[in-house]
Formats: sequence, C-alpha cells, structure tokens
Amino acid sequence: MTAALPASTRDLMAKFGIEAAIFTGGPMASFSPLTGEQIAGLTPATEAETNAAIDRAHEAFLKWRSVPAPRRGELVRLLGEELRAAKDDLGRLVSIEAGKSASEGLGEVQEMIDICDFAVGLSRQLYGLTIATERPGHRMMETWHPLGVVGIISAFNFPVAVWSWNAALALVCGDPVVWKPSEKTPLTALASQAILDRALKRFGADAPEGLSQVLIGGADVGNALVVNPKVALVSATGSTRMGRIVGPKVAERFGRTILELGGNNAGIVTPSADLDMALRAIAFGAMGTAGQRCTTMRRLFVHESVYDTLVPRLIKAYASVSVGNVLETQALVGPLIDKDAYDGMQKALEAAKAAGGTVHGGARQPVGPDTAYYVKPALVEMPSQTGPVSQETFAPILYVMKYSDFDQAIGMHNAVGAGLSSSIFTLDMREMESFLSAAGSDCGIANVNIGTSGAEIGGAFGGEKETGGGRESGSDAWRAYMRRATNTVNYSRALPLAQGVVFDI
Ligand code: NAD
Repeated sequence: MTAALPASTRDLMAKFGIEAAIFTGGPMASFSPLTGEQIAGLTPATEAETNAAIDRAHEAFLKWRSVPAPRRGELVRLLGEELRAAKDDLGRLVSIEAGKSASEGLGEVQEMIDICDFAVGLSRQLYGLTIATERPGHRMMETWHPLGVVGIISAFNFPVAVWSWNAALALVCGDPVVWKPSEKTPLTALASQAILDRALKRFGADAPEGLSQVLIGGADVGNALVVNPKVALVSATGSTRMGRIVGPKVAERFGRTILELGGNNAGIVTPSADLDMALRAIAFGAMGTAGQRCTTMRRLFVHESVYDTLVPRLIKAYASVSVGNVLETQALVGPLIDKDAYDGMQKALEAAKAAGGTVHGGARQPVGPDTAYYVKPALVEMPSQTGPVSQETFAPILYVMKYSDFDQAIGMHNAVGAGLSSSIFTLDMREMESFLSAAGSDCGIANVNIGTSGAEIGGAFGGEKETGGGRESGSDAWRAYMRRATNTVNYSRALPLAQGVVFDI
C-alpha cells in the first residue's frame, strides 16, 4: 500500500471534489511522513493574492457582521453535519499527511465536530452584562460585536482541528476567516475548506463570498497575514520561535493575537498515586502521536518512594510499544513528521547523555523506506532538570526525575519557559489542591489523575508564559473574536455627570 500512497491520496482528494491538477505540479512539495513519499506539489499564494484574499474577507465581514448570530450558527451546524459525513475520509487524510494513528486521525475530526456543536449553542449565547450605574435614570450594559477578519496560522501536528476551533467560533461571532495552514499539511486544509464549501452551498445567499479562504504557503504567506491591518485578529499556533516573531509584529499595528505556542508539559507522581492509572496516562501522554502534541508529556517528577516501582514498568512499556505505519498496522506510534524532527530528537538525546542522563529507547526503527523516520520513544532518567530538559523538543522524549519534597517538585515543574499543560497523580487531597492553587502549577491546563494531553473542547485551551497566553475553543474563549462596547443610556431628563463632576454652562 505504501508505494501507492500518492495515488490513494489523489483518490481521497477526489472524494472532496479536488482535482489532482490543483495540488500537483507546483513547487511547494509536501510529503507523507508514513513513507516520506511526495504526495503533493502546490503553488504558494503570492503576496498580491494574499492581500486580495484579505480584501475579499474584509468585504465579507461588512455583510456577515449584520447576519443575526443564530443564523450564523446555522452555517456552523451545517459544517458539523458535513464533517460527520466526511469523518472517515478526512481522518484518513490526517493520518496520511500528519502520520497520526487511524484512531487519532478520526479523533481529530471528532474534535472538529464537537467544536461545531459547541459553537452552534454559542451562537445564541453571545451575552453581555447589564451593570449597575451610579447615575439615576441611566442604564449601562455591554454589547459584543463582530471583530473583523481572523487570520489563522496553524501547525502541522493538528492540521485541521486548530482551524475548526478558530473558524467555528469566528464564524458565529461574525468574523470571516483566512487560513494559512502548515506548509507540511496543505491537503487536509484544502479538504476542510471543501467540506465547508458544501455547508456554504446548503446555507444559501446569506453567506457572502470570501467568508472562508485557504492560502497555501510558508512563513512568508503567514507574514502577509500578520502585517495586514485588515486582519483584526491573528490566531497563530506553532512554535514559541514563530510566536516571538508574529506577536510583536501584530502588536506594533495594535492588532489582536491569540498565540498558541510550544509546551514543556510535566507530570508529578506522588507517593499516594494510583500507579497503574498513572502508568497508562503517562504512556499515552508521552508516547501518543509520537510525542508530537503541544500537550505531550515531556517531563516527569516521581517521588523517591515510588520511583523504583513505577519507572522500571514505564521503561518496559516504552520497550514494548508498537511503532509502525499506522495505515498498514495497528501500531500505536507513527512516524516523526520529517528528518529535521529526527535530527532534533537525536541531538536532544546526545545532550541529555552529556548532562548525565540514562537513555532508554530513542533508536530509529526500520519501518518503510529510508525517507520515513520512525523511532522508538525515549525515556531518559535525568539526575536533575538540566541540559535539554528545559526546552521543548518536538519528539517522543520523556525526561524522568526523582524528587523528595513536594514543594521542590512544584518549583521544578514551574521552572521552565513554557506553561501549557500539567498533571499530578495523587490521592492526597492536600497535594491535589496545592497543585491546583495559586501557588501550584503555573500552566493554562492543570489536571489531576489524567495526563497532560487530550483536552476536551468545552474548556478554554491554551497556556501561559512562552506558550503565548492565548485561549481557544470552549468556555469564554469566544470573547477574543469579538469587540466589546460599553453602552450607557440616559433615559432621565437630567444630565448628571459621573463621579459627581459639575460642569454647568
Ligand atoms: P512552526 O512554528 O514551525 O510553524 C507553525 C506555523 O507558523 C506554520 O504554518 C508556519 O508556516 C507558520 N510560520 C512560521 N514562521 C512564521 C512567521 N515568521 N510568520 C508567520 N507565520 C510563520 O510549528 P510546527 O513545527 O508546525 O508545529 C509544532 C509547534 O507548534 C510546537 O512547538 C508545538 O508545541 C506547537 N503547537 C502549539 C499548540 C498550542 O495550542 N499551544 C498546538 C499545536 C502545536
């Protein structure tokens, strides 16, 4: 089957109504990590095309903002229906393009469906407050209005879910979207747009042209979105390195950002932990998606009293995990995205050894052709939090460290730049509550007795510090996609001024 991957990709794209001529023959090559074979050659958008797309989106905004929000929700409801119908095909395409296991590919599409359901309900709940005023005969309230064009820049590892988190909310909030997907995963983006096009066709004339567009290209196309003042909000998901460039550029023009950047997520296993449960949670959190989730568990602090029970079992789980082509086998761990990811992993493992670490696993596996990069996930016992441990390496490496004092563990946990996800395994209420308290985990996500990855869409997703501070998906994340107006209405016959100021003329 591997040799036929480009052909089967073409068949799959045809199911979305996308002809091969659209995604082959161009200079921007993309590859399936399953085999390393080229599956597409696209033509990137030029700067002029990007700006024209943004202009179209802005024109669409001027109309879409006045369509009632529940009606906007109807479009997202239809998108959810189309995603349900296309789930198997899109999930498979995610597996081909990002190398995720079949179950994770389908799970990613399920996440898209879930956020659509959430956003449909939200379309009737874009509430503002009514606030007590100090002036008699007055009323004060907040109203939320559509913001403008939302530029979405996304990473390869969640090639479609990140778009849907943003697009579903943006569309009900009254904002058109322009999406620059990762240059490593352009086909799933074209397919997702085709699915939305089906929903738009059923929705009818209320939807203006240019409501949702995809721009294929690399960092330069992303940059064109970043600097264009007609893009009111740039929602950028990717490395902290990218966020350091994008954030200041958008701030310079007083645009808004949602930055969803790198993580260096940790777990703490305390003396009272249910070790069977912790073992399974850590195994999925650290090895799942071949360590290529922003929420992947990368550091583990284990209390000295349970270290010798848990860690040998973990090492055994690492040795036995199945690594392979996820389309041809039931393997739990698929490939790394490319050679750069493999080189980065080996470099980190060398640095860990030099810092006194003991490496278990991490070797390249002979799966498929030489152009594919499969590895055994690595567990590294470290003497302390040193060397490469404080940086995110986007590969399946789990650094394991021993601790003796709970506060020391929290201190080490928080002593890195990133602040995305965290978890504690404990049955001790004091430890649990301390971890969740103001003096505990400093991350945007703090879990108890589950791993660091696998968030549900109902909660706000994102992290602090070098993770960028953005929030997407559930809870009140929608507010970032709207602008707030405070309205004060005087229905009296007098004109009292606030703070008792007198200005009689
Ligand atoms: P990346 O930073 O290399 O690329 C991400 C996106 O940014 C791509 O679309 C890329 O073209 C674009 N880009 C890069 N430089 C740019 C620039 N100067 N201007 C505009 N756009 C630019 O990241 P990646 O390798 O695709 O993804 C892995 C990284 O993403 C990891 O660090 C991971 O933790 C992070 N990530 C974070 C989240 C989150 O929600 N916090 C989710 C997924 C991935």
